[in-house]
Amino acid sequence: MTHHTPAVIEFREVSMTYGGPPPVQALQPCDLTITKGEYVVIVGPSGSGKSTLLNIAGLLDTPTRGTYLLDGIDTQKISEAQRAALRSKRIGFVFQSFHLLPHRSAQDNVELAMLYQRVDRRTRRNRAATVLNRVGLGHRSHALPTHLSGGERQRVAIARALAAEPSLLLCDEPTGNLDSATATAILDLLDGLHREGMTIAVITHDANVAARGERTITIRDGQLTETPRAIRMSP
Ligand code: ADP
Ligand code: MG
Repeated sequence: MTHHTPAVIEFREVSMTYGGPPPVQALQPCDLTITKGEYVVIVGPSGSGKSTLLNIAGLLDTPTRGTYLLDGIDTQKISEAQRAALRSKRIGFVFQSFHLLPHRSAQDNVELAMLYQRVDRRTRRNRAATVLNRVGLGHRSHALPTHLSGGERQRVAIARALAAEPSLLLCDEPTGNLDSATATAILDLLDGLHREGMTIAVITHDANVAARGERTITIRDGQLTETPRAIRMSP
């Protein structure tokens, strides 16, 4: 018997056309498999289809055509409510602009991510404390986002993304709002999570971010191409 690493993301001939007018084919039919534990970077210029790809992978949007399996579940054969449940349980999102609730503490922001999980209040509190410790912010759990630095805010957002113990972290320009030293620290944190087994997909146009992934996929005019490692590493 062959050993088989389970696919977290599997796109089969997935494509996306926005209605318009005029209609825009933002994603050409593509196959993409991301297996458990991989760290994949998706790069491409503005307007190339990165957000479209992220929105489909993150169950925020449904493709026009094709099949998308998340953890082996056909995401088009389930109800909208089941998709929402799948999204909140299996996917952690990290965005450039953090998206924290400004009047809630770091702890509350992380706990709120678990509100729709079937976990009791005490479990939510404990898990939030655990993930805030993991990102190095245990001592700032009662702080409001406005009292935190940009790097600390992104750590809270990463803690929030981890709280439901997702299968996949989807990051869209996670260091886009950070200075380079802070960005490096956030990328180090993602590296650490990857070493612990987390599956990570990062969308970026920043070469320093792209250099961290094990696989690089380029998107151009809605077309995906994988950059073979041998080519990427040659001088
Ligand atoms: P990126 O994130 O790489 O900048 P997008 O995925 O946002 O690219 O966009 C890809 C293409 O699809 C662009 O041509 C964009 O104008 C178009 N597009 C994105 N969202 C919509 C939408 N809701 N309706 C129509 N066209 C859209
Ligand atoms: Mg975009």
